[in-house]
Amino acid sequence: MAKIKNLGVLTSGGDAPGMNAAIRAVTRAAIFNNIEVFGIRRGYEGMIDGDIEKLESKDVSGIIQKGGTMLKTARSARFRTPEGRKQAYENLEKFGIDALVVIGGDGSFTGASILSQEYNIPIIGIPGTIDNDLYGTDYTIGYDTCLNTVIEAVDKIRDTASSHNRIFFIEVMGRDAGFVALESGIATGAEVIMIPEVKNQMVELREFLSQRAKSNKSSIIICAEGDDEGNAYEIAKKVESEFPQFDIRVTILGHIQRGGSPSSYDRVSASRMGVAAVEALLDDQKSIMVGLSNGQIVHVPLNKTVKMHKGVPKSLLDVAHILAI
Ligand code: ATP
Repeated sequence: MAKIKNLGVLTSGGDAPGMNAAIRAVTRAAIFNNIEVFGIRRGYEGMIDGDIEKLESKDVSGIIQKGGTMLKTARSARFRTPEGRKQAYENLEKFGIDALVVIGGDGSFTGASILSQEYNIPIIGIPGTIDNDLYGTDYTIGYDTCLNTVIEAVDKIRDTASSHNRIFFIEVMGRDAGFVALESGIATGAEVIMIPEVKNQMVELREFLSQRAKSNKSSIIICAEGDDEGNAYEIAKKVESEFPQFDIRVTILGHIQRGGSPSSYDRVSASRMGVAAVEALLDDQKSIMVGLSNGQIVHVPLNKTVKMHKGVPKSLLDVAHILAI
């Protein structure tokens, strides 16, 4: 294959802390290898609109510590259509872009995989999503910072919950996956953790509340937003009338979980993956995601990351179960 001359980089889907560190790493690793870099703004929307600008090393200075993404991000309905992708590819051609690095989640990789097949352009994915729900990598950029944000908030809520002997239902992000709920629940000593991967949890919740009714102690119940039993308000409503003795409160943590300065783990991992993405292109890789498995960089076919489901580890569920006695 001809050597890559011009590399496009974009962030797509939900923003995640550490995306800037990945953009910086991709840009500098490419320049280090004499490849020109073009930043594509607003994900696939910007690709369709030609919102593209050359990036120099200095353009990515002073961003490693910042949350969000300097390239902006978007969800693009137009990119889901062949016409939209054709327009996007024509813009890539206009700028002479002959390879792409896409930083995003499984939706972004689905789009990348389709574009790569339709136009035979090499695309490397970097997993960037606070949900940690991508198959083939132990870890996605933003997840660690998100967990730390959740833990800080829940610890604060715990103070007021225990002062008033209240039961708090706290909803955290995770439409389809319970990673954030499960690990933050373990880290904060939540009494019950409700996640989409575990079925019939109302039985467990009712049992727990019946026990707690005897001691009248405060409790934290963490709910993933995509739990089968509904959102935190709906779950609280289901038990409220059965347990009138409890002072029940609901908190939705919401978008604070996406923001903030990335943790050291997110910064270093994003830097490693950014460099690895450029090295993968130099090694002639065409349609893969770079990920981390047991602390090492791995390559996973893009179409596999989107087809396969990443389940929460049973060992973590066991830990949560044992510690909830
Ligand atoms: P997050 O996990 O943070 O939500 P994501 O990458 O999964 O991130 P999505 O909104 O699902 O976020 O996808 C981002 C974009 O990828 C979509 O707005 C769309 O432009 C593109 N995309 C998703 N699915 C497809 C598809 N089937 N075909 C073409 N493009 C797609």
